[in-house]
Amino acid sequence: MTDLTEFGVAAIRDGVAKGDFSAVEVAEAFNANVAAASALNAFIVATPDAAIEAAKATDARRAAGQSLGKMGGVPIGMKDLFATKGVQTTAASHILEGFRPEYESTVSAKLWDAGAGMLGKLNLDQFAMGSSNETSYFGNVISPWRRNDGGNAAMAPGGSSGGSSAAVAARLAPAATGTDTGGSIRQPSAFTGISGIKPTYGRCSRWGIVAFASSLDQAGPMARDVRDCAIMLEAMAGFDPKDATSLNLPVPEWEAGLSGDLRGKKVGIPREYRVDGLDADVAASWDRGIEWLKDAGAEIVEISLPHTKYALPAYYIIAPAEASSNLARYDGVRYGLRDLPDGANLQDMYAATRAAGFGAEVKRRILIGTYVLSAGFYDAYYTQAQKVRTLISHDFKNAFTEVDVILAPTAPTAAFGLGEMVSDPLAMYLNDVFAVPASLAGLPAMSVPAGLNREGLPLGLQIIGREFDEQGVLNAGLAIEARAQFSAKPEKWW
Ligand code: GLN
Repeated sequence: MTDLTEFGVAAIRDGVAKGDFSAVEVAEAFNANVAAASALNAFIVATPDAAIEAAKATDARRAAGQSLGKMGGVPIGMKDLFATKGVQTTAASHILEGFRPEYESTVSAKLWDAGAGMLGKLNLDQFAMGSSNETSYFGNVISPWRRNDGGNAAMAPGGSSGGSSAAVAARLAPAATGTDTGGSIRQPSAFTGISGIKPTYGRCSRWGIVAFASSLDQAGPMARDVRDCAIMLEAMAGFDPKDATSLNLPVPEWEAGLSGDLRGKKVGIPREYRVDGLDADVAASWDRGIEWLKDAGAEIVEISLPHTKYALPAYYIIAPAEASSNLARYDGVRYGLRDLPDGANLQDMYAATRAAGFGAEVKRRILIGTYVLSAGFYDAYYTQAQKVRTLISHDFKNAFTEVDVILAPTAPTAAFGLGEMVSDPLAMYLNDVFAVPASLAGLPAMSVPAGLNREGLPLGLQIIGREFDEQGVLNAGLAIEARAQFSAKPEKWW
């Protein structure tokens, strides 16, 4: 029998609906892969029973002739940043260890309503802060990919959604949720040869997602191809009165609207993304991407996004500022960890809990955030960064008067080895350089696999679209996918 774990979202949904196999068979196959892959450390908690239960419900609906939903019979991994009722939700932090929410996040609830089942909670960078998964309290995820140099150096799966990317690439899940504050869906997708889309800010409700930087946080799907992303995004998106920044717009039928024909479309190539020292393989893959989009009928236009170089510094002010405020709630009173030394008063308890509960990177962000928000420095840093953010949005608005989508690399390099960057936080932050501008502007952006570099590691191409134009992004992604013909798979060593 075919290995069911080779199927993606669409194939599983359609196969279950037709009766080629049952949802329970699918869930069992993925549960087995999850159980056999502890070496990857992709899951913090596996929930095989939840996956089986959802699958049984789907099979029963089918037997009763009822409709199965957009994700009917599809088991998925859930980033451990989404509150899942009764199932430990940690944001990969010690401070939330043991926290079992009383409620379900809107996005996960929508996925279950659409017929999906949960394979487990996926590892991530602590509070989604990081680009390599090395800030997780539960140990880093190891990418299923290795360099082709015969060595066995452990590679970063990207971050923060590194459990999601590793799980999908290693066939532990056909798809997974991710969140993207400054690249955390796109960069890990690029590092592991999968597809992922961050929709327009506000498309997916933030309710029940552990907050990092609220003006930037967006959920989105990570899956094996563009169609699977379109299907899953339809299930995740939609207005939610519980999120004040939720977009009150109907959810388009992105899957039905898929078309890789780009005739009449203009694709912008931003001059400023040709940064000094851009990795040669990344530059070559970008050039190939340009040719592919031309081949799909698009006209290529060089554009300028003049404030690009200020995006990263602005992000690393705004995101920590919001994080320092959001993370104030972890005080040892309401959630998870409480450290109450002998004879301690309330202040001591706060301090001891936070000292023991937060990891080093989270503390660094809280310190930076508190500093840039402090009375004497607020205008110099925070206000200034907000002005820069507006200029960056204007850059994109101008560009989109001329072009329909923008093509750029997703990250300046392929995956790096675990441990290779940790000692230099600025080098790590630089990995977000191409991802952060679209986040600051709230625009939809996706990464699709574009090939392998000379070390045999995946490279991703990024497509950035106008606000609300996920369709344009997905369609350009589809045109690339059809030409890149990416079929490489990590060789199984785990
Ligand atoms: N790597 C970026 C950071 O550390 C982005 C993280 C994210 O998008 N969650 O802030």
